[in-house]
Amino acid sequence: MVSRHAAAERRIHIACAVIAVCAMALVLRPLSAAESSTAAEAPAISSASETFIVGNVTFALLHEFGHAIIRDFDVPLLGLEEESADTIAAVSLIRLDVQHPNAGFGEMLGVTALAQAYVWKAGLEREGAQVALWAQHGLSAQRYARLLCLLYGSDAKRFGWVAEAAEMQEIRAESCEDEWNIAERGSLWVRDTYGIPPSQRSSRPAAEIGVKYAQPLDANETKLAKLIQGRQLLEKLGQQMQTTFAFPESLTLKLSHCRIPNAYWDDEYREVVLCYELMEALAKYSQQPEVTKVVERFRAGR
Ligand SMILES: [Zn+2]
Repeated sequence: MVSRHAAAERRIHIACAVIAVCAMALVLRPLSAAESSTAAEAPAISSASETFIVGNVTFALLHEFGHAIIRDFDVPLLGLEEESADTIAAVSLIRLDVQHPNAGFGEMLGVTALAQAYVWKAGLEREGAQVALWAQHGLSAQRYARLLCLLYGSDAKRFGWVAEAAEMQEIRAESCEDEWNIAERGSLWVRDTYGIPPSQRSSRPAAEIGVKYAQPLDANETKLAKLIQGRQLLEKLGQQMQTTFAFPESLTLKLSHCRIPNAYWDDEYREVVLCYELMEALAKYSQQPEVTKVVERFRAGR
């Protein structure tokens, strides 16, 4: 999925869909007769499915913005870029959850971890063991554990049930507050070092962040595009990034067709790309009963 520095390809695609592995398996699986008719009719998306899709998409976009920030500002790192991008995305959602405790940002991180758990439990990394071993991302089980640890570590009282439900080992749970503090400190350092100071956010000119939508090709894509457009997810995220970081050049947030389920930062075209195929894969997985259970549990804890 990562084609950086390929000899015949100068464009740098940092491809890092949060659930790329499971997503691909789901999309490539032939549809059953029942699923085919369902897709043709494009039924309404349930509330839990919406939370799952929007949560995973938001995390993926924040993760890709993490890459854009790291690359554009040449941020020094002491670990893998992928893990640093995860840190930026997770800390963003948790801090938003603290500021707006009833807005569902904690759920967004929770359902992202759930998608990682699915990849792990379904054994989808087993077939591509080589890819998983040499991938720049941590294994899905590790990403799952880290995201939940950060969530629990940010507020053990509020998210104690998360550690319990996940059967988090005590020895890891004890370190989660430290992990959270380190992650938050690193993210805030990046923001304070490379971001626009709050006092200048309204006056300082910043490179524009535009939004583009490729035309949906069928009823299912239309439904998913509306889900994102209706919430103005790309517009709001772009605006937030534009006022927080003075990127050296303009960039675009784009909903596009990619032929594979993915999301990526394109260094040459300066695009954060969200693929329709990724949303389709997320929509399919969101039909699993555990998605509803997890979303309901998060909502009960608000
Ligand atoms: Zn990435």
